[in-house]
Amino acid sequence: MKYDLHSHTTASDGVLTSRELLLRAKNRAVDVLAITDHDTVEGLEEARHHANEIGITLVNGVEVSVTWNKTQIHIVGLGVDYGNEELLEKTALLQKTRILRAEKIAQHLEKEGFDKPLEGALRYSANENITRTHFARYIINTGRARDMAEVFKHYLSYGKPGYVSAQWLSLEDAVGMLNRSGGQAVIAHPSRYKMTNTKMRKLLADFKSAGGAGMEVVNSGLNPEIIKHNASLAMEFDLLASAGSDFHSPDNKYIDLGRFPELPQTVTPVWQEWKLQ
Ligand code: AMP
Ligand code: MN
Ligand code: MN
Ligand code: MN
Repeated sequence: MKYDLHSHTTASDGVLTSRELLLRAKNRAVDVLAITDHDTVEGLEEARHHANEIGITLVNGVEVSVTWNKTQIHIVGLGVDYGNEELLEKTALLQKTRILRAEKIAQHLEKEGFDKPLEGALRYSANENITRTHFARYIINTGRARDMAEVFKHYLSYGKPGYVSAQWLSLEDAVGMLNRSGGQAVIAHPSRYKMTNTKMRKLLADFKSAGGAGMEVVNSGLNPEIIKHNASLAMEFDLLASAGSDFHSPDNKYIDLGRFPELPQTVTPVWQEWKLQ
């Protein structure tokens, strides 16, 4: 069985609709796909309908933005009830935070000489669930950056002119919310945070005591050493292991659905006790 437990649709910053994404997953021999859009569960009901038709197992997911120790991190929720009231309320709040942050990002980009950046970014968004990826697509379109890597490096990553920090959910609120909505909380792409080992261990300890269930041990493009390191952290903190591509777009030739190594034998998969339908 091939599991890919991290992916995006047009409900956030993915470019495929849920139907297109599920078809692609099916064609790529993924058996179980989690759709994990940023701070929203909109679209999961429609996705379920398509999944049934296509004949692929869908896991209801979400990728929640969290501020921990002044750092922005992402927590993936797997198997959530997308009708859960607290989940709907808190994600609605996060949407508001996204809009307010986007207005500030736009002001900063205007100072850099960009023309109507908010309108520009929104043109790439199906539903105003606006992320930095939408600004990135707009900036690339102006010709002032060649690709995603360049646009984040020059404009959108921490410390760059278009970076605006925001107050996302606390770790405790996010993990509690995901647990109360029947899901499992999983630390997304740990190797992307560029944290010192000490800080990462503090994060994992805090996450575990907040009720966190697992961490992504395998993502797209990780080398075997990093996977081994992630696996040893998962075991040390008694966390289940997840695996996901974080697929956003077919344009990225390095990332595709289901395209990553298997989990090491030493860890317990997050799906070990799932009863899927
Ligand atoms: P946000 O949640 O609005 O801060 O946007 C974060 C999103 O930006 C991530 O989910 C990625 O899709 C994208 N992103 C962040 N850093 C990079 C990068 N260096 N290259 C490409 N995409 C990135
Ligand atoms: Mn994204
Ligand atoms: Mn993420
Ligand atoms: Mn993601």
